[in-house]
Amino acid sequence: MKALVTVALILSSISIVMSAYATNQIIHGSKSAAGAKLQTPPAVTAPVVAPQITTSEPRESSAEEAVLTEDSAFKPGSGDKSIANPDKSPASSENTNPRSAVPAQKVVYLTFDDGPSKYTDTIVDLLQKRGIHATFFMIGSQLAGYEESVKRTSELGNYVGLHSMSHNKKKLYDTGKADPFLKEYQQEQALVNELTGTTPWLIRAPYGSKPGVNADIRDRLAEANFKMWDWTVDSKDWSYTDKPDKIVQEVKRQVRRDTEVILMHEKSQTIKALPEIIDYLQKKGYSFAVYKPEMHFSVNFAKDDRL
Ligand SMILES: [Zn+2]
Repeated sequence: MKALVTVALILSSISIVMSAYATNQIIHGSKSAAGAKLQTPPAVTAPVVAPQITTSEPRESSAEEAVLTEDSAFKPGSGDKSIANPDKSPASSENTNPRSAVPAQKVVYLTFDDGPSKYTDTIVDLLQKRGIHATFFMIGSQLAGYEESVKRTSELGNYVGLHSMSHNKKKLYDTGKADPFLKEYQQEQALVNELTGTTPWLIRAPYGSKPGVNADIRDRLAEANFKMWDWTVDSKDWSYTDKPDKIVQEVKRQVRRDTEVILMHEKSQTIKALPEIIDYLQKKGYSFAVYKPEMHFSVNFAKDDRL
């Protein structure tokens, strides 16, 4: 009898623990609503399987964004080739090629800078129609007036990343100090959180991180848990006004690595070029991925693997 009572006691305490655990799970599993508190940066759970993207110093350029030279970019022979293992794709890529039976090994990240803009919805629609997603780096001072577009971009599965408040070279880089730089991103992070309920930790430096983002700024970014992406392919779309064919050509010329991060902007010529760019990349066997914080890998000109 005593033994039975003991067993009953043990069983009931187990069930109490279990239900407490379940309640806890429900609370912590709930989706954060817009305007929720800023979330802490995610733990990067898969650094081992992330591809090593080596970028290097861009050629000095008067361009709006710096240029990553063709020969200086990703070395095809380098890096962790575990990406070849279909169970270890670098991100939750979207294989849009119906004929391929195995997950694609080649992954491309389309990135769009300088939004939100009057083009944001059109770009998102175009991606939606193709069943793919992209990573957007938006400017904080432009969010007002485009709240719905920003929300929608995020809700439809795209990543809304940070591209500073001002996009102003002078304000961001001329002092060489980390404080004003960090402050712009922290301010923008809070604004994006209010709009989307997400807390982006991935930034892109206006005009690329070289030479403006110095070692001191990188230290502070790393301390603050920010990540920073440059790119491996510069479509130069901003310079080809009314010349979508040139943009397509530029992308074709530069794309060759197993993992590519393509720099584009929210421009009308980019929208015109986009269907052909997507077609080309699919034909080349790429699947399209969107930035996932928990699958972060480094893509920055300084090769700083903390970022
Ligand atoms: Zn920009």
